[in-house]
Amino acid sequence: MCLNWTMKTERLRSLGIYIHIPFCVRKCKYCDFLSLPIGAEPISLVHEGEREKMIRTYFKALENEIENKSAHFREKNYTVDTIYIGGGTPSVVPASFIFSLLEKVYKALDVESDAEVSIEVNPGTLKKSSLELYRKAGINRISIGVQSTNNADLVMLGRIHSREDFLKSYDEVLQAGFENINLDLMHSVPGQSLDRWKSTLEDALWLKPDHISAYSLIVEDGTYFKTLQDEGKLRLPDEDTALEIYRFTNTFLEENGFKRYEISNFAVPGRESRHNLRYWDLSEYLGVGLGASSFLLDRSLPDIKGLRLSNTRDMKEYLDSGQNALSEAKTLDRDRLMEEYLFLGLRKTEGIFEERFEKLFGISLREVYGAVIEKQVKEGVARFEDGRLHLTERGMEVANPVMAEYLRQ
Ligand code: SF4
Repeated sequence: MCLNWTMKTERLRSLGIYIHIPFCVRKCKYCDFLSLPIGAEPISLVHEGEREKMIRTYFKALENEIENKSAHFREKNYTVDTIYIGGGTPSVVPASFIFSLLEKVYKALDVESDAEVSIEVNPGTLKKSSLELYRKAGINRISIGVQSTNNADLVMLGRIHSREDFLKSYDEVLQAGFENINLDLMHSVPGQSLDRWKSTLEDALWLKPDHISAYSLIVEDGTYFKTLQDEGKLRLPDEDTALEIYRFTNTFLEENGFKRYEISNFAVPGRESRHNLRYWDLSEYLGVGLGASSFLLDRSLPDIKGLRLSNTRDMKEYLDSGQNALSEAKTLDRDRLMEEYLFLGLRKTEGIFEERFEKLFGISLREVYGAVIEKQVKEGVARFEDGRLHLTERGMEVANPVMAEYLRQ
């Protein structure tokens, strides 16, 4: 990481931290995330085989990376207000590793007392004892990778858990005293009807989580599903059914106390993911671990600029590198930042506030994007009201091409 990249402002600045744990029991059939299958055998803390050695070495590397990079953020008076441990499957590794890692973060950086500290867990890997240790480690938000409560869906997706495993895990999460719980769900999966999806949503609502992420399946290159699709063997819901499922999800969750605050994210008021909002707000974050990305912003006008850094995706290189294995460092000038601000910010239902845009970039939103905005308002995919630009319902349905119109390069 280019720690000599100078920040001109010295006032308190907030930072989010993302920590990547790239291990899973096995690969799900749709997954293109950076994760290595390590098998279902519990990780032994006593007998160290090759697998245990790699995981231990990886955690040592994470701790070193945090240590190495934190000096810069301490020096610049950053305070950390969100930490997100994602994967992969963080719950597949011993909770004591997560505990020590967080201890390291708290020592190395100034973490706010009310910081949002999240961990992703998967049913089938979660232990009751781990949950207690997570709490002791300051974790206050649990994100459960459920995808579906239908066992046939779960088998078809290649998930390792069953509906029963999920319900047991959910109960244990509640018993451990967690009050901020997200459920990750996936719709428009092969063979899914609206009724089948509806029953997953009903199950989810019955459990009263605080947050639901409801993503549509995307068939990514390099996945087992992609191979099936290329062979003509993947039976996805047709376009009409997929649209019906998408619309039903939005209405049903909003009718049941959830506010849709991003294209695929719903929360009971006040429980929006503060960490994920950082990405859509173009706020700063430090990514630690294999393949993790960081984003830093120098807000000095008129030369506002951003720096996007990505760690290597090669495990051997990461472990051998002294944890400084950057694969990419890209500086973003004001034009590029404005594009990203629009591209990411319009994912939020509140959209982009004219005043915030002008304060950040020193130029008015209409001056830069007046022509695109006018065109989109006419087409009915965007609306300008109360000093903010946001997508309409129709605009959200075709969000990618609509948002891409703000990318000028
Ligand atoms: S659990 Fe998540 S990260 Fe792991 S293989 Fe499945 S989808 Fe990918």
